[in-house]
Parts: sequence; structure tokens; C-alpha cells
Amino acid sequence: MVATKAPPRSLRRRVRALHRRLEDHYGPAQKKRIGPLDELMLTILSQNTNDTNRDRAYESLRARFPDWDAVRVAPRGEVEKAIKSAGLWKQKARSLQEALAAVYDEQGDLDLSHLEERTDHEVIDYLTSFRGVGLKTAACVLCFAMGRSYMPVDTHVHRVARRLGLIAERATADHAHELLNRDSSVPPELRFSFHIQLIRHGRAVCRAGRPACDTCALGGLCPRIGI
Ligand code: SF4
Repeated sequence: MVATKAPPRSLRRRVRALHRRLEDHYGPAQKKRIGPLDELMLTILSQNTNDTNRDRAYESLRARFPDWDAVRVAPRGEVEKAIKSAGLWKQKARSLQEALAAVYDEQGDLDLSHLEERTDHEVIDYLTSFRGVGLKTAACVLCFAMGRSYMPVDTHVHRVARRLGLIAERATADHAHELLNRDSSVPPELRFSFHIQLIRHGRAVCRAGRPACDTCALGGLCPRIGI
């Protein structure tokens, strides 16, 4: 009997299977929703640090200043002091204040509700025009604060997606945003959840240094690209 070759599974089908496996393993994705400006400030603080240090810096900033307008007009050194636990405090304090100043100059206040009327790409173009705001930060505002079906790609998502063969091994993080947010890739309704699940998996199992492939829940579904 001649064996017939199975048709290649579409990328979307693979993503659905991976997502189902990850959700079974880690449970449903959850994340507290905050406003677009809060999310923008939080994500700037998260650059090159872990969640604990980011949250400590964010809480310190909120405790020291009554609102974002007070952060906008504060002496730079005061903002730097408040966010030291996040690391790179000089760079981040400047990015926070310059983003706040840009919003204020354009809107006359710090309201970002006008973003609701813009397309995903218009929101990305607007936010990435601020110094220190890259594609991942803009994607976090879109996905977490605005509830749009847009998947942010952080270092964990980037690494795990490459190993799973969802994107080319050499794809940059910026290119990965484009690839994973195509209709032929991650289905829109899974983008928030798949992002959270890949981060959980990247932290716990598919680590940068020593991925635990032998005990990985994605075992049979993963081509282990680059391992
Ligand atoms: S099998 Fe290995 S490379 Fe693939 S997802 Fe699991 S830990 Fe990562």
C-alpha cells in the first residue's frame, strides 16, 4: 500500500492547536485592563526589565505624583528618582515626559480617547512618533488598553514563535509583528490570549538559555527550530 502524504497544516490551524495546548496547560489568559495612557507609561517602564521591577516603578510614580500631568511638568530628576527600580531611569524618565508633552501639545490635555477613532496602523504611527516608543509598546496599548486584535511581540513571544516555526528564524521582532498579525497567521480572536500564553511558556519552559524540550507541553507540535 502506497502511503499518501498528508496535506500541510495551515499556519492558522497550527496556531489554534498550539493555543489549545497552552491554554489547557496554563489556564485562560488574564490581564487587568487599564487606560491607554496608563498602559503607555507602564510599557515604557517595562523596557529591558522584569514585571516586578516595572510594577514597583509604576507604583512609586503613581504614589509620588497625583496624576500624569504632574509627571509631565515635574523636574526630570524627581521622575528619575521615582522609577529607579525599573532601570535605565534617565532614558525612561525622558521617554515618559516627552510622550506626555507630545500628547499635551497636540491635544491640550492628556486624553487619548481620540485613538479609538483611528485604525490600528494609525494608532501605531501616532504612538511610535514619540521618542522611546517602539512597535511593541504601541502594540501593547492597542491590545491591552484598547482591546484591539493586535498581538504584541516581546522577547519571549519572538523567541518561542521562531522555535515553533511560526515565523522565519531570522525575522526581527518588528517583522514578527507584521507576520503574526496577518490574517493567515494568528486568528484575530486569539491574539491577546496567544500572546499571554507564549509569554508564560517562554518564561517557564521555552527559556532563552535552556529550553526544557523534554518536558514541554508542546512536544509533538514543535519543530524545535534552532535548538
Ligand atoms: S519543544 Fe522545546 S523549543 Fe519547542 S516550545 Fe517546547 S521548549 Fe520550546
